[in-house]
Amino acid sequence: MAPPYVLRKKGKPDPTPARAEKRTASRFYQLKSGHALTGVYLKSVDNRPDDHCWWCDPDNNCGTQQTRDHLFKHCSRWKDQQAQLWARVKEETKRGKREWRVGDLLADDRCSPAVLDFLRTTYVGRAAPPVEENWDSDEEEEERAVAAAGVMGEEEEEPGG
Ligand SMILES: [Zn+2]
Repeated sequence: MAPPYVLRKKGKPDPTPARAEKRTASRFYQLKSGHALTGVYLKSVDNRPDDHCWWCDPDNNCGTQQTRDHLFKHCSRWKDQQAQLWARVKEETKRGKREWRVGDLLADDRCSPAVLDFLRTTYVGRAAPPVEENWDSDEEEEERAVAAAGVMGEEEEEPGG
């Protein structure tokens, strides 16, 4: 049985992402702050030439902006995962998808476990797959994108350095 929810004092850090594995937690915090690897953010820091969604609109046919709202609610690539996320959120909060703004969702402790599972089962908040020739490799691109998002890698230090 799930423990009952206890109201936490304001300002206390949300314990759920703090306990999550580092990579998922950092995507969570990046999305929360808005400095995440989304189309709109990467375009704003000149990491990508445009902000369309590379998953559901890879050829930029409809110019769908890849916002947080798009990724959590509308992107056809993650439909199943979105359905699970919002079903859980509704169960926890009695508020459905249409009643939430993603910014509020990410700020609500009660929703963090569902959000973290959503991140674990999707690539939301991770770098775009290489689609252009000048993109060297997934990994390098991700590193560059992470650096652009202002989050420096701390977990992969070279041994003996
Ligand atoms: Zn999309």
